[in-house]
Amino acid sequence: MHYYSLNRQSDSVDFRTATVAGQAPDGGLYFPETIPRFPAGFLEQLPQLPAAEIALTVLRPYVGDTIPETELARICAETVNFPLPVVPVTERISALELFHGPTLAFKDVGARFMSRCLGYFSRHETQPVTVLVATSGDTGGAVASGFLGVPGVEVVILYPQGRVSPVQEQQLTALGQNIRALEVRGNFDDCQRLVKQAFRDEELRQRRQLTSANSINVARWLPQQIYYVAALGQWPRAQPPVVAVPSGNFGNLCAGLLAYASGLPVAHFVAACNQNDAVPRYLQSGQYAAQAAVATLSNAMDVGDPSNFGRILELFGHQYPVLRELLSGYSVSDAATTATITRVFQETGYALDPHGAVAYYALEDYLRQHPEQRGIFLETAHPVKFPAAVETATGQPVPIPAALQELIQQPKQSTLLEPEYEALRAYLWE
Ligand SMILES: *Cc1c(COP(=O)(O)O)cnc(C)c1O
Repeated sequence: MHYYSLNRQSDSVDFRTATVAGQAPDGGLYFPETIPRFPAGFLEQLPQLPAAEIALTVLRPYVGDTIPETELARICAETVNFPLPVVPVTERISALELFHGPTLAFKDVGARFMSRCLGYFSRHETQPVTVLVATSGDTGGAVASGFLGVPGVEVVILYPQGRVSPVQEQQLTALGQNIRALEVRGNFDDCQRLVKQAFRDEELRQRRQLTSANSINVARWLPQQIYYVAALGQWPRAQPPVVAVPSGNFGNLCAGLLAYASGLPVAHFVAACNQNDAVPRYLQSGQYAAQAAVATLSNAMDVGDPSNFGRILELFGHQYPVLRELLSGYSVSDAATTATITRVFQETGYALDPHGAVAYYALEDYLRQHPEQRGIFLETAHPVKFPAAVETATGQPVPIPAALQELIQQPKQSTLLEPEYEALRAYLWE
């Protein structure tokens, strides 16, 4: 498999080069040259297949011969060594729970796969690799956990000051070792802009070998298909589900659409956004306009100009009518998010996190208009990551899982950074 740049000014590369570089030299996102179809019989066997085997089948064509089969099988097994259950919440709505990994959010899947691929590719390197990553909350923690203690890899995380939850901040700043956190006086779009600029800085890149771990990296983006496929294996009905995805930078939804393009049966997709609704607006009007990010309760989705939107357009050949048929967009307010957490907790006992609640709200609305359908929403984080919002809505404290107790007591270590490229450059030049 080869990958081309969506800006079309760089050469096509294999999986290894795309993973190590993160982004094409022309600043574009890498995109697979062909969309593989799932092998014959695969979908029928799904209910019997363990997640590690699903992962291997889905990802093998994308990795090609850059990683030997036995290594790839090991990487896949380590990537999904936690459950990915589909849990019924009501008669028509089920949660695909993606928070059973080490940092309690779905980004563990992509981060674990990518860190292991990068570890494999750099096994003979003498110069250390710097993983540079901007986070709106959960990416940084998942990446930090995935790379913690990996020799030859240094991780530098940029996060927006005051816009991540206390648990998220601990996961970014308290690990130590090879993980360093930069607290940026700005929003997530500032963090992302600074990172993109660093990748375009040839002089800096000669001094430091940089790679990205954002969802723009194919090694983080592609493995997110695994749980859509695993969910279908647990779906008890002949009629395919509607799938609702809480979306910010749109890597997760775009992975689901990719699995669909490879043959996964899904009735319809719902792009569930908070007030940052550039994509829902596009789906209504056919016109795309980037926006400035606004802060919301579902902070990991506070993205005004989602990077992966270009990949979604590419996947559907830039045909707006085709995309519109398959995908509905929703913008959900903070008030509706809180009301949804409260109501679902009272009616069913299920505790949603704010991101899952955005998707739940959108799915419920879609199903109201399509009474013959049933659906799955992606519950992308454990509610304990957003205790203030969840406790306000449910009136109940969210107990802290044992896995987090120790981390929460470690001291925070971060460096303040102005949202200007010169400041980041000086830091990385050291
Ligand atoms: C990152 C994140 C999202 C958004 O995922 P994208 O792939 O950026 O669209 C949703 N929910 C949670 C909890 C997240 O951490």
